[in-house]
Amino acid sequence: MDKIQMKTPLVEMDGDEMTRVIWKMLKEILITPYVDLKTEYYDLGLKHRDETGDRVTVESAEATKKYGVAVKCATITPNAARVKEYDLHEMWKSPNGTIRAILDGTVFRAPILVKGIVPFLPGWKKPITIARHAYGDVYRNTEAVVPAGSKAELVITAPDGTETRELIHDFKGAGVVQGQHNLDDSIASFARACFNYALDTKQEIWFATKDTISKQYDHRFKDLFQEIFDAEYKEKFDAAGIEYFYTLIDDAVARVVRSEGGFIWACKNYDGDVMSDMVATAFGSLGLMTSVLVSPDGVYEYEAAHGTVTRHYYKWLKGEETSTNSMATLFAWTGALRKRGELDEIPALCEFAGKLEKAAVQTIEEGVMTGDLIPLSSLPEKRKVDTETFLHEVAKRLDALL
Ligand code: NAP
Ligand code: MG
Repeated sequence: MDKIQMKTPLVEMDGDEMTRVIWKMLKEILITPYVDLKTEYYDLGLKHRDETGDRVTVESAEATKKYGVAVKCATITPNAARVKEYDLHEMWKSPNGTIRAILDGTVFRAPILVKGIVPFLPGWKKPITIARHAYGDVYRNTEAVVPAGSKAELVITAPDGTETRELIHDFKGAGVVQGQHNLDDSIASFARACFNYALDTKQEIWFATKDTISKQYDHRFKDLFQEIFDAEYKEKFDAAGIEYFYTLIDDAVARVVRSEGGFIWACKNYDGDVMSDMVATAFGSLGLMTSVLVSPDGVYEYEAAHGTVTRHYYKWLKGEETSTNSMATLFAWTGALRKRGELDEIPALCEFAGKLEKAAVQTIEEGVMTGDLIPLSSLPEKRKVDTETFLHEVAKRLDALL
């Protein structure tokens, strides 16, 4: 078979630890034998981020803006222990945070449903997609530890220089303070990304915040969503037979648990971070959660929702057997290849992405899976395989499909 030719390169962001190991294997076993892979490679491994003063992260995001589609491996967000472990010059910021800040946009996370893997909530029959706003709030905060006897104020300086001051707190004892912001433009593009995605996938969409407590900040989100919906989307939603509704975050949590899935749950940045892990875990495994960042100007960055799986990596380094789930990383690659195929009008590339996904799901449905899925699978006969064997098993089925 001739390899599928590409036109525009994918932006490839390599990463850390076990997912970096999987990255290389996956390309060698499942991509490059079939596709004449064109990528512009950026090494976001922690060592190289440190060597470049984290410039590589910014450059990879700029390249994504230029080419339109990126695929990203999981990366370490350094903490104090990592600074020591890697002898870092600085405690670099989260690469995902940096990339999201440059691309803006919304992160959509959806589980990969596989027959035999039953959600912890048996009522969940269809996927729940979390749409996470990817800009601002606590991820771009300014915070400080406040000594006793201090006064903290919120000061806004208008363009004409006038100051508005509001007391945050008179600190009798020591404490902490935090300043957050968001932007109307970013909230509006979040809303549009959600409504477009809902129309694309024909699913209803729920949005929830805590506007009863946050009467200006969260309320702004609620109002902008409603204004944009009424002005631009209401008719299209009616025609598609889908709904948008707003509710309080507490109410949303209760409804989601009782639901049967099949909708998009739009969340502010922090809520989306936390709730996507909850939804992923309840659907079965973090290893089955896909993630795509969609920017308002139509730029896509695909990744797995999980981290670098550190515990498995240290086993791998010692030469011990690992059984790490590569499904989410695989779906990041297929998502990116399919999108590149759509944009460059290469149907063979889209078809390949679909068949690779099918082969991967089929492998698990036929009882061949990594260790994390064994206790979740209801199949009577199943076999646990190591990280690399799983990829070869997928390749066998892919060859049959091609
Ligand atoms: P993690 O890498 O997601 O792993 C946590 C645990 O979840 C693992 O120890 C493993 O459980 C299970 N797990 C996650 N993915 C799995 C997979 N593909 N296959 C099998 N099991 C899987 O989270 P973490 O340990 O909290 O974070 C590790 C590093 O990842 C940190 O340095 C963090 O900064 C980074 N991180 C990066 C991203 C990103 O780049 N998007 C996201 C989150 C975290 P068992 O050990 O019980 O098998
Ligand atoms: Mg998280």
